[in-house]
Amino acid sequence: MLIQKGFKYRLKPTKEQKQKLLQHGGNARFVYNYFLKQNIDYYNKTKKFKFYYELATSLPKLKREFPFLKESFSQSLQMVICQFDKALKDSFKKEKSFPSFKKKHFLNDSFTCPQKWRLSKGFVFIPKIGEVKWIKHRSLKGKPKSITISQDGNNWYCSVLCEYKIKEQEKQTDNIIGIDVGLTELATLSDKTVINNLKYLKKYEDKLAKEQRRLSKKQKGSKNRFKQRMKVRKIHTKIKNIRQDFLHKTSYSIIKNYDGAVMEDLNVKGMMKNHHLAKSMSDVSWSEFRRQLEYKAKWNFKHFIIIDRFAPTSKTCLNCGCIQDMPLSKRQYNCPFCSASIDRDLNASINIKILGLNKINTEGRSGINACGVETVVSTVKQEKECLVN
Ligand SMILES: [Zn+2]
Repeated sequence: MLIQKGFKYRLKPTKEQKQKLLQHGGNARFVYNYFLKQNIDYYNKTKKFKFYYELATSLPKLKREFPFLKESFSQSLQMVICQFDKALKDSFKKEKSFPSFKKKHFLNDSFTCPQKWRLSKGFVFIPKIGEVKWIKHRSLKGKPKSITISQDGNNWYCSVLCEYKIKEQEKQTDNIIGIDVGLTELATLSDKTVINNLKYLKKYEDKLAKEQRRLSKKQKGSKNRFKQRMKVRKIHTKIKNIRQDFLHKTSYSIIKNYDGAVMEDLNVKGMMKNHHLAKSMSDVSWSEFRRQLEYKAKWNFKHFIIIDRFAPTSKTCLNCGCIQDMPLSKRQYNCPFCSASIDRDLNASINIKILGLNKINTEGRSGINACGVETVVSTVKQEKECLVN
C-alpha cells in the first residue's frame, strides 16, 4: 500500500526571504478569501457553487486585476484553489463546517509548491524565493512529492510530503479495544485502562485566558496589541504542541498494542452545555485523537471502526442488555434487572467494543475466518464475566 506522510522542518530565512515568504503566504490567503467571497455571492444569486475548474480558469484574470499576485509561483496559487475546492466539497459532509475566511492576524499563512522546488543538504529551494536554509533534524523517508511552507507566528516551516510503500498484512481481530471518550478523562478503554487528560495543560489554558483578556483591552492597530497577540499565539502553540505530543503517544500505543480500535462517532452526547471552554478543548482533542487513530490503524493494518453515535452504549447493561436512563451524574451502572454493577464509562466502552465486533463480523468479512470471529466473541464473554460483579 502506498502512503503519504509529511515531514516538517524549521526554516531559517534571511530578512529579505522572510519578506517574500510573507508576501507568498499573504497572496495564498488573498486568493482563498477572494474565491470564498465570490462563491458565497454566487451561491446567494444562483444557489450553485463554483468548483476547481471554473475558479482555476479565472485565475489569469485575477492576476491582471491584482498584479501583486504575479509575485507568487503560479502553481502555488492553483494549489490554493485545489485546497478551497476540497474544503468546499468536504463541507457537504455532515461533520465538516463551511470554509471560513483566513485571517492575517492568525499569523498562520501557508502555501504549497507541487513542483520546481529542490532539497539539498542545507537548503530548500522555493520557487520565486530561492534557497532558504533549513534545519534538517531528521531524515526523510520515501519519495518527496511536494512541499508546503507555513508560518507559525514569527517562525516558518517546510513540510515535505513523501510517498512510500508499506508491506500489507492481514488484519487480526483477537484483541480489539473499545474506546469511550469522556470529559474528565480523555478515554476509558474496554480493558479497564483509563487515559487521563493532561492535568498540567490547565495551567497554560488559564494563562491563555488571562492573556486573551489583556489582548481584548489593547487598542486596535497599536504596537502593544501586536506584541500581545504574539504572546497569546505563543501560549496557543505551546498548548497545541503539548496536546499533540500526548495524543500521538497515546494513539501510537493503542494501535501498537491492540488489533484495532472501536469508537463512537463524535460530536456525541449533548454533554457539557455550560462548559464552553472545556468543550472546545476536549472537542479538539477528541477529533484529533480519532484522526490519529484512524490513519495509524490504516498504516499498521489494524481495524478502526466507528459506530453509530445514537447507539445507547451508556444506557445498555453489559450483562443482560437491558436499557435504562443514565444521566451524567450517575457514575456507576447499576442494573435493576440483573443487579450487575459496573463503572459507567467501562460499561460503555465494552458495549462500544461489542458493537464494533458485530460490525466487523457483518461488514468486513475479508481477512477474518469464522474461527477468528468465534474467538473474538468468546473473549468478550470472558471479559463480561470477570468485569461484572
Ligand atoms: Zn443487567
